[in-house]
Amino acid sequence: MEASNLRNQGAGTVQTLVSNAKYPQVVMPECQVPKSLKGQRALVTGASSGIGKAVATALGQAGADVVVNYIGGEAAAEEVAAAISEAGVRALAIQADVSQESQVKAMFAGMLKEFGTIDILVNNAGLQKDAPLEDMTLAQWNTVIGVNLTGQFLCAREAVREFKRRGVVKEISVSAGKIICMSSVHETIPWTGHVNYAASKGGVMLMMKSIAQEVAPYRIRVNSICPGAIRTPINTNAWSTPEAYEVLMTLIPYKRIGEPDDIGRVAVFLASDQSDYINGASIFVDGGMTLYPGFATGG
Ligand code: NAD
Repeated sequence: MEASNLRNQGAGTVQTLVSNAKYPQVVMPECQVPKSLKGQRALVTGASSGIGKAVATALGQAGADVVVNYIGGEAAAEEVAAAISEAGVRALAIQADVSQESQVKAMFAGMLKEFGTIDILVNNAGLQKDAPLEDMTLAQWNTVIGVNLTGQFLCAREAVREFKRRGVVKEISVSAGKIICMSSVHETIPWTGHVNYAASKGGVMLMMKSIAQEVAPYRIRVNSICPGAIRTPINTNAWSTPEAYEVLMTLIPYKRIGEPDDIGRVAVFLASDQSDYINGASIFVDGGMTLYPGFATGG
């Protein structure tokens, strides 16, 4: 299969901030992105930074035309779109708040007008509003549920409507459409001080599986990626100093933080026919964070 080089952040280099000499050096993978999405049209929400940016870039490198959704910061979104189009595909930045029904509808209308249809939705937009339970405001609760859960529902509903209307075009893909939900290890790991976030991701898990069950007969696949700790703006406090990084490593058996490209590669796979028989699955991409690392020394 034809392949292009994925511009991995730090590919082939030693990841920094690892101080424990008893473990082997961390060398980042040099990976190829297969051109497995030629002719497909993808929408990635929250794609102007972090994981969404890496996913949108990887989908473009795999041959898909990409809509880069963003809520604010037009310049950053336009920059991502311009970089994607260097791969020889079309890329378009569209502003929308995914928690607002009218804006989601307008975004899909804009995508259909420009690209004709949609083959891949990546429900990535998400945020945190952290507080101990007794201090958490209803606004903090509603904002997180509104973006992380309701936003994914609104986008999935629009995508499924178009997938079912259009059906399978076998020259493009053997399925009528793919939805990838960006969940988290916190769809299963409880998280003190983040009950709104953990509830939203737990909700994403059963929303994803229920939608998958409902639309599978129409040859629509719905899966989740569950990242562990990935180096992005959402969790800067957890990796930006050597001390914080060391504490983080106690939670990660593989002894490195994840990079956005770790998620981009999995998204390409889940969006392609290579994963055609994977449906309703939560794929954990977490360096083993869900392996109960606290039990590594006994228990
Ligand atoms: P990020 O803050 O860089 O990305 C989140 C993006 O969503 C931003 O671009 C933001 O502008 C956008 N966004 C927020 N509200 C929006 C709205 N209402 N409408 C449209 N876009 C909106 O952080 P990230 O780490 O790249 O997060 C991406 C996804 O990955 C999130 O769903 C997050 O919960 C999930 N995740 C991240 C990690 C991690 O360690 N970084 C771990 C597990 C899950």
